Amino acid sequence: MTYLDHAATTPMLPEAIAAMTAELGGLGNPSSLHAAGRRARRVVEESREAVAEAFGARPSEVVFTSGGTEADNLAVKGLYWARRAADPARTRVLAGAVEHHAVLDTVQWLAAHEGARVEWIPCDGLGRVQPETLREMIGTGDDVALVTVMWANNEVGTVQPVAELAGIAREHGVPFHTDAVQAAGHLPVDFGASGAHALTLSGHKLGGPLGVGALLLGKPGKAGGVDPVALLHGGGQERDVRSGTLDTPAIAGFAAAARLAAERRADEAARLTVLRDRLIASVREAVPDAVLNGDPDDRLPGNAHFSFPGCEGDALLMLLDARGIACSTGSACSAGVAQPSHVLLAMGATPERARGSLRFTLGHTSTEADVDALAEALPPVVERARRAGLS
Ligand code: PMP
Repeated sequence: MTYLDHAATTPMLPEAIAAMTAELGGLGNPSSLHAAGRRARRVVEESREAVAEAFGARPSEVVFTSGGTEADNLAVKGLYWARRAADPARTRVLAGAVEHHAVLDTVQWLAAHEGARVEWIPCDGLGRVQPETLREMIGTGDDVALVTVMWANNEVGTVQPVAELAGIAREHGVPFHTDAVQAAGHLPVDFGASGAHALTLSGHKLGGPLGVGALLLGKPGKAGGVDPVALLHGGGQERDVRSGTLDTPAIAGFAAAARLAAERRADEAARLTVLRDRLIASVREAVPDAVLNGDPDDRLPGNAHFSFPGCEGDALLMLLDARGIACSTGSACSAGVAQPSHVLLAMGATPERARGSLRFTLGHTSTEADVDALAEALPPVVERARRAGLS
């Protein structure tokens, strides 16, 4: 198979599989006081140190979760509840218009059920949120519960000016959350330097296992002292903001992957950038009217996102799949078939362009042969999808 869907999930690194497998036979609940429990706790704490070091955090700032979705929910709902409880006037939530559904739907739920007044921070035609836009929207900041803007977009790969955005939120005493699920392992993600109050990570996007992630949670500046209100109540294994027995094997695998991803990041980003540019050039050559979405110059190293005029994205995806090529439609994480990408619509694309798009994403197993296989398969596939047209 030609796997061009690393942004959906990346194959586990052998070292992560080894670390996880070693723990599958391990004994002990990390909360138990006996020797087996202390051993399991040690695995968790060593993993916490590794994740913290990989992403510029302190170990005490790492909260393990069941993945990016839970971390996003914990950050957005939990910070909203905590801020509103401290000051009932704080009900505004400022969220990027091109967020992943784990943030988008959570924010919408707060609006529907918890009285949040949600305002979407618009982006430009490349998918970028301008710091000045946030500055205008935040006002005095006195009625804002939180600001959330992702580090890098999962569909079009656009990178946001996170440090500037976090700085504006901080100036106004407002917690800033960023979803760095796609950025981690590809861009230099340093929690401390970013100025964010909370940052989401996911294990399976950086060579670790599925079903594990983390929320990095600090207490910087005037937004300090606001731990999110927990989503999961119970024994409080994680800093009282997250309960449930920790998945020690998954956490060990995640930590091994995080360590390697950080170590190899610069070299791997350089390699993937060359490969991605080859992919972009060969798609343009194979289908001359294909339109590249997102920023041509400043995007995730492994991301190429195209619209194919006159085609249905799902048809393209299935025709490529029949030829052994795996990719995502442009609306990668939107539920349902034939859904236009909300990201492209927010970027001002026509519904047709938003529907007929595909995302190709590269990762640690990608080679030139993958790119060449795509270039060969695309022309007949696009021609066939064009004949079928838009439904
Ligand atoms: N945020 C972003 C930007 C993502 O791409 C994803 C995964 N598609 C998630 C959050 C959710 O992460 P997880 O799959 O670990 O729940």
